[in-house]
Formats: sequence, C-alpha cells, structure tokens
Amino acid sequence: MHVPDDVIAAIATAAGTSGLAVVRVSGAGALAAADGVFRGGSALAGAQANTTHHGWAVWPASNGGADPGGDRPDRLDEVVVAVFRAPHSYTREDVVEFSCHGGRLPAQRVLAALLHAGARLARPGEFTLRAFLNGRLDLAQAEAVADLIQAETRAAQELALSQLAGDLSRRLDALSERLIDSLAEVEARVDFAEDVGGIEVPERVVEAIGGARADLTALLDGAVYARAVREGVRVVMVGRPNVGKSSLFNALLGEERAIVTDVPGTTRDLVRERLEVAGVSVTLVDAAGWREGGDAVEAIGVERARAAAEDSQVALWVLDRSAPLEDEDRAIAVRLAGKRVLAALNKSDRPARLAPASVATLIDVPAHLTIEVSAATGAGLDDLRAALAGMLGVTDGGPSLAAAVANPRHIEALERARAALERAAGAARAGLPGEIVALELRESLACIGEVSGRTLGGDLLDRIFGRFCVGK
Ligand code: GDP
Repeated sequence: MHVPDDVIAAIATAAGTSGLAVVRVSGAGALAAADGVFRGGSALAGAQANTTHHGWAVWPASNGGADPGGDRPDRLDEVVVAVFRAPHSYTREDVVEFSCHGGRLPAQRVLAALLHAGARLARPGEFTLRAFLNGRLDLAQAEAVADLIQAETRAAQELALSQLAGDLSRRLDALSERLIDSLAEVEARVDFAEDVGGIEVPERVVEAIGGARADLTALLDGAVYARAVREGVRVVMVGRPNVGKSSLFNALLGEERAIVTDVPGTTRDLVRERLEVAGVSVTLVDAAGWREGGDAVEAIGVERARAAAEDSQVALWVLDRSAPLEDEDRAIAVRLAGKRVLAALNKSDRPARLAPASVATLIDVPAHLTIEVSAATGAGLDDLRAALAGMLGVTDGGPSLAAAVANPRHIEALERARAALERAAGAARAGLPGEIVALELRESLACIGEVSGRTLGGDLLDRIFGRFCVGK
C-alpha cells in the first residue's frame, strides 16, 4: 500500500480559551515547513530528536506576503517547538509540534503560516491514519485512540486504554496463531493426500477449532457490557402522568432536576441527565407523560417522548403501585411491546394496589426486571440500578474489560469468524474434503484479521478515520 508522506498540519487542541494550543505538523518535509515559520536560536532542520526550542512563530518571509491579520505583520506568537524525528514519533514521520498560547488566534495564525509554508491541512484522524499505515499501531489500537478521546466514564477510558495497549490485538493474535497451526496441519495433509482423494481431519485439529470457537464465544459474550461501556446507553422513562417519573428521575440522579408537581402532565419537555451505572454512561431521559389530549405545549412534549422512546435502548416504565392499572397503562404497554423494558412499581411506601404479577399480564417483562421502588423514600433504588446493570450485561462483579471487544465493527467481524469456524468444525465432523475445512479456516483468519487491519476491505479506513477529530 502506498503510504503518503506529504506534510500535513492541524491544530491538535480543542477550540476555546485555554493555557496552550498545539499545532501539529507531520511528514517528510515537516522540519522544512516548520523552519519557514519558526525563528529561534537555530534552524529546526539541524535539531536533535526529542528536543524543544523556544522562539517566535512568524509569517513565512520567503513567500513575501504579510499576514493580513496582524499589527506587526510578521510576528504571530511566542512558541515552544518540539521536534520528533522519524521513526520515533506519533506518526513515525518527522513531527513538529508548536505549543502556542491558548485561545483561538495564536494557533490559527500559526497554522495558516504553516499552510503558507507548504503544509496541507490534515483531514480528521490523518495523523493516526499515518501511525497505522506506518505500522506503529494496528487498526484496533488506532480506533482505541478515538475511543479514548470520547470516553465519558472511567470504565470506558480503561477499555480504550486496554485496547490501545494492544490487549485485544494480542488476544486475537494468539487465537490466530492457533488457527494457523490447524490450517497448516490440514493443508499439509491435503497436499500429501492429493492423489489419494480426500483426507481425514485429525481429531486434535477438530478440538483446536472447537477451542478457538469457544474463545470467540467468550469474547463475544463480554461484548454486550463492553459495548455499553464504550457507547453508553439511553434510557427513557415512560409512564402515565403522576406515577412519579420526575420524582424517580431525581431520586436516581440524587438531585432535584425535573419539575415535580401534583398537576398531571406538567413535565412538558424532555429532561436529560447522565448518570453512571456499573461504568456505563446512562443518559436518562425523563419524558412527558404519554398522554392523549392535553394542551398544545404538552402535545409537543408527548410527541418528543414518543420519539425518544422509539430510539432509546431501554425503556424504564414507571407504574404507580398504589393504584390499580388504568387504560393508559395498558395503552403504554402496547407501545412498549418488543422493547427492552425495565418496570418500576413506584410509591412502594404506600399500600399496594398493584401486584408485580399483573404487569406481566400486560407485557413480557421477566420478574427480575419488575422492581418495587419508592422515589419518596429511596427504597428499592439500588435494586433498580442493579436490574439496569444486569440488562447492560453486567454479571456478578462486572465482566473484565481487559482485552474485551466493544467496537461494533470488531463484534461483527468476530461473529463472522466464529460462523466460519462453526462451518469448519461441521465440515470436519461430516468427513468433507480437507480443502473445505482449510477454506473455512482461512475465512475465519481473514475475519479476525479485519480487527487489527491485517485484512482490509474497501473504504474501511475512510470510515474509521473519519470519526476522529482534526489534529489527531
Ligand atoms: P410524573 O408526572 O410521573 O412525573 O410524577 P411526579 O414525579 O411529578 O409525581 C407525582 C406525585 O406523586 C407527586 O406529588 C409526588 O410527590 C408523588 N410521588 C412520586 N413518587 C412517590 C413515591 O415514591 N411515594 C409517594 N408517596 N409519592 C410519590
């Protein structure tokens, strides 16, 4: 594959007021471009690797033009420049990083000057793309960089760090090694038996395939939780007015947020808050009561509530345990059909007039997901959180996030790898020709290779690196 090495530049830090802003330059001509802009004790072209240099960023004189935005046309900012030399840099190319003063202008003007000096504006994720193309990171590690930047919980950060450190890649490499051994064994026999016509796949190869399949299954079983950790989940609260949705919302958040009143239908809009359940970032959406009629403003809230319920991953259905079921509860149950539902029977501090079992007559919610709570006293809230954690794939003690698979692209590839192994095992057991077993083993290896990027397809790189921010 052709690896580009033209000079790219971008601001690597977030926009806004800050102490520092970093402009990053990478490529074969990075030092020359930087020298066009930097005035310090000596030229950067002669600088040692891993050194920093104090000086000024100026508008490139060789091009004659003055920076149109400045009072002193040539002077842009006082900077510290770090020099990294290939291959010991983030991209494995020559890299120069300008540490400018924070804020919008210094970095922007230094970047403009660098573009004037011959650099090209980097596309999102292009620095990391180069790190991948130059072999410093595999694809799973490169993707972990984007995950790390986007992590919202500590668990999500740990998951990304583990992947960045190569834990998942090593686990998959070990698996691939074993499959390659099996493949070699089958192929050797196929070659040997060319004239005999067909071979028998030895039992230990069948066992090895079974073992690899079990490994993939274990990895995929942990993916439910790991994916929830990586992406977070959206939980929308639904229920007829006055059952205590807002109160429960506040109780779960531990602070007063939504407006609580005795008048039905007063939670008119959606209120969103983030909370953390077992390391998963949960966006809790308190929706207006699902109520027919009402005034216009309320109707808008109701519509939004419906839309929110449609694209949420879990619906937290709040019922009033101190009152019998109403038609409106039944209507909600109909709309919730097919969704993942957690039922909260609220107001458990009051005499019970609704049995958990009657909820089960309306909708297919298992008993362990029907929880009695009291937003008023806080009773049952821990059970509710635990039930939600269970729905997110958390089992006793929480599954390990080390070497876990969380990215949908990886999950999908590993599911295909497992299916190919199943076919390989099936073919071996059925006594089909060894070539077929070998074919399926190779298919499985190719799918596993997609995770690390060893096997690449189509516009995959564009899709992956397009997710990054500019400057990374
Ligand atoms: P929403 O319309 O579903 O959002 O309901 P609210 O949260 O506004 O609550 C409606 C009424 O029920 C308010 O008067 C709350 O104080 C009351 N309420 C909510 N939760 C409980 C509870 O657990 N126990 C009791 N006794 N009252 C509650």
